[in-house]
Amino acid sequence: MTTRNSYRIASIPGDGIGPEVVSATIQVVEKLAKTLGTFNIDFEHIPWGTEYYKQTGRYVSEDCLDTLRKYDSVLFGAVGSPDVPDHISLWGLLLALRGPLQLYANVRPVRTFPGTKCPLNTATDGIDWMLVRENSEGEYAGQGGRSHVGQQWEAATEVAVFTRVGIERIMRFAFETARSRPRKLLTVVTKSNSMRNGMVLWDEIAALVAKDFPDVRWDKMLVDAMTVRMVAKPESIDTIVGTNLHMDILSDLAAALAGSIGVAPSSNLDPTRKNPSIFEPVHGSAFDITGKGVANPVATFWSAAEMLVWIGEKDAAKQLMGCVERVCAAGILTPDLGGISDTQGVVDAVCLEVEKL
Ligand code: ATP
Ligand code: MG
Repeated sequence: MTTRNSYRIASIPGDGIGPEVVSATIQVVEKLAKTLGTFNIDFEHIPWGTEYYKQTGRYVSEDCLDTLRKYDSVLFGAVGSPDVPDHISLWGLLLALRGPLQLYANVRPVRTFPGTKCPLNTATDGIDWMLVRENSEGEYAGQGGRSHVGQQWEAATEVAVFTRVGIERIMRFAFETARSRPRKLLTVVTKSNSMRNGMVLWDEIAALVAKDFPDVRWDKMLVDAMTVRMVAKPESIDTIVGTNLHMDILSDLAAALAGSIGVAPSSNLDPTRKNPSIFEPVHGSAFDITGKGVANPVATFWSAAEMLVWIGEKDAAKQLMGCVERVCAAGILTPDLGGISDTQGVVDAVCLEVEKL
């Protein structure tokens, strides 16, 4: 008898369209596991988010880290609600977990997808990039403060914190990621002309780590010039690494260039694998379409496929993405991609494809 691997996944649907896209994804992944019969997967619901905050005063439970450490991975939807300031909800949930769980690598694959339209005039096959975002330091380290609040001379500082350890670990991860891809090509993004401390340290450590990866071609680029290159010469790019702030911005640009934020996935990884990693769509809670049943579930499907790769079910991930791509290529698309299908219509179509496997 063959033994099947079993996985326990925490599902945190969160706010807005989060519950819609997470529920869509669980249906599809459970169907996949059942049809392939090669692994077991259990999703357990965790109710953290803005409703939980309104009832308890906290976005997550007090023992949230111990709770999550019981799971192999976490599938997350979105956080944010129009009646709570974004910096409170974001720090209450996602940023509260990323730091302590040491999810220092945020990985965002970006490629043109069947059914999406790349707004660029690329004569080539479109875009196929891997974005690596440092996920624990920089301007998002939460350091800084305000003085003379409300007075004319009020001042606020947002201190960007960079450490040698923090930069080196993300740089190694990025070089390894670039090495694992066919083109073995990495661009290190900084702003070391005008930011003369942290960004210069980034440049120095990039050069140091590069010595251990002689088979990876790499270059460095200022972030402003990089925005131009992404639009003007997309084919010259493969893997990109940069700071928390820079890659936050570049990854939205990348998602838009690839056609839609509705298909963009992301992984928050602890590359040491001591803690469970969190997989989530790049988009947020999108309250303008919440409850209408039209949210595009593809970004979350793709995030779940990245999760399957991470936990060791690479073949299942490939099969899942094949099914999703066939459905999109057949024109079964939500309105954000110009289609007329609703979320459940896409789910049903993908489940039908899965049944054919
Ligand atoms: P947050 O503040 O959490 O980032 P948001 O409300 O700003 O959330 P985003 O997720 O950033 O919304 O998305 C911006 C817009 O893109 C949304 O208002 C919505 O119209 C559209 N959008 C985002 N995700 C999807 C999706 N999965 N399907 C369809 N449209 C989407
Ligand atoms: Mg937003």
